[in-house]
Amino acid sequence: MRCAEAQTLVARHGRDAVVNMVRQVLAQARAEQITIAAGPPVLAEVSARLALSAQPSLRAVFNLTGTVLHTNLGRAVLPTEAIEAMLDAARGAVNLEYDLELGERGERDAHLEPMLCELTGAEAATVVNNNAAALLLVLNTLAMGKTVPTSRGELVEIGGSFRLPDIMGRSGCRLLEVGTTNRTHLHDFAQAIGPDSGLVLKVHASNFVIEGFSASVPEAGLAALCRSRGLPFVVDLGSGALIDFSRFGLPHEPTVAQALKSGADLVTFSTDKLLGGPQAGVIAGRAELVAQVRRNPMKRALRVDKLTIAALAAVLRLYADPDRLVQRLPTLRLLTRTQGELQALAQRVRPAVQSALGAAHDVQTLDCDSQIGSGAFPVRTLPSAGLAIHPGSAALALAFRRLPVPVLGRLHNGRFLLDLRCLQDEYGFVAQLPRLAAPS
Ligand SMILES: *Cc1c(COP(=O)(O)O)cnc(C)c1O
Repeated sequence: MRCAEAQTLVARHGRDAVVNMVRQVLAQARAEQITIAAGPPVLAEVSARLALSAQPSLRAVFNLTGTVLHTNLGRAVLPTEAIEAMLDAARGAVNLEYDLELGERGERDAHLEPMLCELTGAEAATVVNNNAAALLLVLNTLAMGKTVPTSRGELVEIGGSFRLPDIMGRSGCRLLEVGTTNRTHLHDFAQAIGPDSGLVLKVHASNFVIEGFSASVPEAGLAALCRSRGLPFVVDLGSGALIDFSRFGLPHEPTVAQALKSGADLVTFSTDKLLGGPQAGVIAGRAELVAQVRRNPMKRALRVDKLTIAALAAVLRLYADPDRLVQRLPTLRLLTRTQGELQALAQRVRPAVQSALGAAHDVQTLDCDSQIGSGAFPVRTLPSAGLAIHPGSAALALAFRRLPVPVLGRLHNGRFLLDLRCLQDEYGFVAQLPRLAAPS
């Protein structure tokens, strides 16, 4: 063995890892009855395998799928302010549950609640791990052992692992289906509500639309009915916009403030969808109900950590200045990129992709449609631009995924499509293309 090379490996990966990998490589060679001379070939193989195993499992990728808030790709990209806040919180001790003025134990929610109330008009708010947890906690707190009337048109499944009827069961509530799939009326709810009802739930139609002969009960009417029967009215908003996105030229999505104004007693929503923050779920609304939710022992099991609080607080602070939000919040910046800007980007990167692929593939610029994702605005798409590579194949998609920073696109009609809406690091994308090992 050549000492210098071995020592470099030991310095990088540690002695045990190198020794183990040498044994593995030699054992495999023996098993496959390959004779390899000790020395450089073994070390090269050991080095390659160590480099591979040193790669973290969770890695940065280029999301060129055309879905901006992609659940499988971690949803919202965080603003610098949130990243820096997380670093600060991670580095040392923080006053997570400590009141610096009083010098005594404080509330975890204290770092977020005032801003959430300010932005939504809620009396109180608490934060848990995600919106599914928020809903679970609300149902379990206010309706355990009771019925929860919900419109049949709103019994949603979101991405397979979240089905409203299942969450109801696990929360200890009985779902009471109201109305029909396409039409539910206020009088249906009036009949369904009984002495054993715990709350009434409205779920924002998130990842689908019911078109044609359809009717749902407006929030204000349902709220009035619930008030007259003394029942909490809870709205699961899903994405939960904090401000009206139509001011940025995006489709209108109901805001948390509007839902509360329309009479919702509690609203739940995600913070890593349109809001553009880290993964968490908010429960906002009437103070006495939020206090009840906080007292539920399950709250402890669903609470968020200091990193999430740091990031979310930083994102909420950006909302205090809506005029600069487009520049500062990556989610909003990506959603509002114009087709013209993306067409220009496609033209700039096309030659590099073509030259990396060679003559076996044809690369064209392409106008396409991006989706917002995570159930927000299910039918409205955003005019976008990208590249279409012909012929597209699973092998080609794999080659792109095997780049140092994997590139994720989608196969469609025999072509491999790269939607450039979410391409932020143009230079990094182009710089790694020479390493593309495309099928010939
Ligand atoms: C996304 C969504 C959820 C789940 O939220 P998570 O934060 O992913 O747990 C629940 N309800 C609706 C309507 C949604 O859109």
